[in-house]
Amino acid sequence: MENLTMLQFFEWYYPADGSLWRFFASEARWLKDIGIDAVWLPPAHKGMAGGQASGYDSYDLYDLGEFNQRGTVRTKYGTKQEYIDAVQAGKQAGLKVYADIVLNHMGGAEEKEEITVRKVNPENRMEFISEPYEIEAFTKFTFPARAGKYSGFTWDHRCFSGVDYDARKQETAIYKIQNEYGEDWQDVISDELGNYDYLMLSDIDFRNPLVREELKRWGKWFYETAGFDGFRLDAIKHMNPEFFNEWLDYMRAEFNSEFYTVGEYWAPGDLGAMLRYIEFTQERMSLFDAPLQANLHRASVEGKNYDLRTVFDDTLVQARPELAVTLVENHDTQPLQSLEQTVERWFRPLAYALILLRADGYPCVFYTDLYGSSYEDNGRDGQAQQVTMEKMTELEALLVLRKRYAYGIQVDYFNDPQCIGWTRQGDEIHPESGCAVLMSNGLGTTKAMEMGKSFAGRIFTDYLGKIDGQVIINEDGWGDFQVYAGSVSVWTAEG
Ligand code: CA
Repeated sequence: MENLTMLQFFEWYYPADGSLWRFFASEARWLKDIGIDAVWLPPAHKGMAGGQASGYDSYDLYDLGEFNQRGTVRTKYGTKQEYIDAVQAGKQAGLKVYADIVLNHMGGAEEKEEITVRKVNPENRMEFISEPYEIEAFTKFTFPARAGKYSGFTWDHRCFSGVDYDARKQETAIYKIQNEYGEDWQDVISDELGNYDYLMLSDIDFRNPLVREELKRWGKWFYETAGFDGFRLDAIKHMNPEFFNEWLDYMRAEFNSEFYTVGEYWAPGDLGAMLRYIEFTQERMSLFDAPLQANLHRASVEGKNYDLRTVFDDTLVQARPELAVTLVENHDTQPLQSLEQTVERWFRPLAYALILLRADGYPCVFYTDLYGSSYEDNGRDGQAQQVTMEKMTELEALLVLRKRYAYGIQVDYFNDPQCIGWTRQGDEIHPESGCAVLMSNGLGTTKAMEMGKSFAGRIFTDYLGKIDGQVIINEDGWGDFQVYAGSVSVWTAEG
């Protein structure tokens, strides 16, 4: 890998004006120019919330903005043709395009069914709190406007393991559907909440072989329709890993394609569960490094009280670097979102240096750090809040540093709780390469770090332009590099 970088090309509050696919198509060449190699686009299918749907509320996987369903033809991001054109524009610009796959649940069914369920304790889903009884649940999906085009499959209660609404009593709870595939939930990796198979809406039951067959048929159709390069898999913590083993094996064999895949197993405090998932899926996919994102959040909140030497402790990039997708923020962690755990602005350049300029991990840049965003939503207290996420002025320079300079042997100086640094000593393939990175969450300081004797006598300057001075590398290959308080500087050799 040539220091690849991924971009998450959306944020939760991107306007629901149907413009995202066209905007991406128009940006693709520029993104490639600034050092982006791959782009994760949001879900392409119609969600339950129609034109407002993020897509994480799957309704009809075959409706990519083609049918008048859920009150709209287009999705939040545009029409089917605009999606296809966007993927093509990305590929023509030399980008890899990853499609976002949401197969844990569906919502927005047209018809109710009378089904037998047992209520479970929401805090411990292994505990039934009722005997079996009948409810009316929205579990029959008929997709009337699509009318069987592409697939005549009808989803009903035999395709789902649980629901959260009884239309008869107008009651919300978690109901385990008693179907022929089991009285219990599907097996998942962790025992959070007893069993976290159920997340939301109608939870898909992969024990039904017709469901697995239909989702393979859909995967084939989706790839033949849109021609993307890989996948981002949503909510895999809530799914039995056997399903994606089978589905990915099928897709890769059917199309003889690698289909790079990253899964969302969001367990910031449970690296063990993530490693068990990796074991179970036998390296078929990478995972987002949720523990690292949590550490970056904490470092940003705790400031000078955070011990920077521990920033990689208990992270995926430390445990399984080749399978870690590192990130600073995503559409769930951004302010006012469901897993809110933002990285404060002062720390973002430091956080990006930590994911972009080190040897390990496949970094994923978040949309707002490139484009900014401003939005309003209700906070946890129910009060409306205004949020501004400013674009990060250092980001483009850090992307250049990753592509041109951050190569070769890495020597770490993680020897001060408030100031850490490392050097990359460059390699022969990249003639300008080599850099010295130094960051502080406390006072401004200086640290001696080794670049290697091949740099003796060379003059280094701060590529990020925060510090005006020069550093001259001594005859042993060392330099005294400087950083300001609460800042990061990246020193590179002058030409
Ligand atoms: Ca599930």
